[in-house]
Amino acid sequence: MTALSDCQALDAADVLASKRAEFKIPAGKIYLNGNSLGPLPVRALAHSLTLIEQQWGEDLISSWNKHGWIDLPLTCAEKLGPLVGVAPGQLLCCDSVSVNLFKLLAVALQLNKPRTTVVSLQDNFPTDLYMVQGMQSLLGAGQCELQTVDEEDLLDSLNREVAVLLLTQVNFRSGAMLDIQSITQRAHELGILVIWDLSHSVGAVPLQLDAWSVDMAVGCGYKYLNGGPGAPAFLYVNKQHQAKVSQPLCGWMGHTSPFEFSPDYVPAKDITEFLTGTPPILSLGVLSAALDVFADVTPAQLRSKSLALADYFLALVAARPELNELELVSPVAAEQRGGQLAFAHEEGYAICQALAAAGILSDFRSPDLLRFGFSPLFLRFADIAKAVTVLADIVAQRRFDEPAFKQRQKVT
Ligand SMILES: *Cc1c(COP(=O)(O)O)cnc(C)c1O
Repeated sequence: MTALSDCQALDAADVLASKRAEFKIPAGKIYLNGNSLGPLPVRALAHSLTLIEQQWGEDLISSWNKHGWIDLPLTCAEKLGPLVGVAPGQLLCCDSVSVNLFKLLAVALQLNKPRTTVVSLQDNFPTDLYMVQGMQSLLGAGQCELQTVDEEDLLDSLNREVAVLLLTQVNFRSGAMLDIQSITQRAHELGILVIWDLSHSVGAVPLQLDAWSVDMAVGCGYKYLNGGPGAPAFLYVNKQHQAKVSQPLCGWMGHTSPFEFSPDYVPAKDITEFLTGTPPILSLGVLSAALDVFADVTPAQLRSKSLALADYFLALVAARPELNELELVSPVAAEQRGGQLAFAHEEGYAICQALAAAGILSDFRSPDLLRFGFSPLFLRFADIAKAVTVLADIVAQRRFDEPAFKQRQKVT
């Protein structure tokens, strides 16, 4: 059977096939970058017009009540509940992943005093490490100490001195996935609180934060959730940790009654305590509409399609000898990776540019990684077959050697 007939059969059997029509995918483009910036959902576009023209344009300030703007951080977040396995009252959509991490880190450190060590992985997404470094310089020596370790040393580095374990479930480079349940359990046995970064997981990998007794988590709104560039992130705080200590970015939106304008901060007794300033209604409204795309799909369907696309990609790559020079750095075993694949090649950047010139959008991560994201909602198996054919041509004919493909741009 040729790859082409394979992919037609796979597309015909795809239970998520109809979801593609809910996105604006530019004609002639194959988008293998939904793990970095999700594409535009049709309903997000439509809602953005209502939001701006009608709600802001016509109803003006009354929209805070009339259109529920004031509750949007909560109502938007509740749509994530099924994707992350969380009962109501523990999620918020607000701020960026970085800012939310800072809030959670501060709370976790307070809850676990007098412990001060924060353990993370050396190859965690850098902003996560930077935020701990910032906390360290704010609090001063002896109040917060970052210790980064390699993955193989992770469990050995945990002990009763450690306050917080800060981990990203799916590695942004390799796509390798950590086991949240077993690591969280091991940390809890040692009295450690765990914060999980789910930026590269949510929307592609099924999660059960409540059932796994996760303490706190953050995640990104613009990757698999398709909330648009710079979309608000989300945070999760398990009910058992709420209302014990307050977070340090205690702006008026986290106050128990913000519209009393009291000079003294009194934190809300629920998850809204984790809000800081006025919610960015335009981007939050777009994210909220984008999340409606997930209303009638299950996390298991998302996972199964995403892995099937990636496995199909791997099988096609393996069948093309000219692609031997691409070295897979993601785990071969599907259950050990998230929704993306990464390959090392010394000309990774130029290959990525040559693919883009042919309408196939992937991304590149320094120093030599070519990364492909397998978003389950809009990709077709036929897209994968086409992408591998073009990739094989580019590599076989060294089309990446064109000088224009080697010029680095600011965002890679
Ligand atoms: C994308 C991503 C972020 C983004 O953080 P922002 O502060 O929202 O820009 C953080 N952590 C991980 C693991 C990511 O993949």
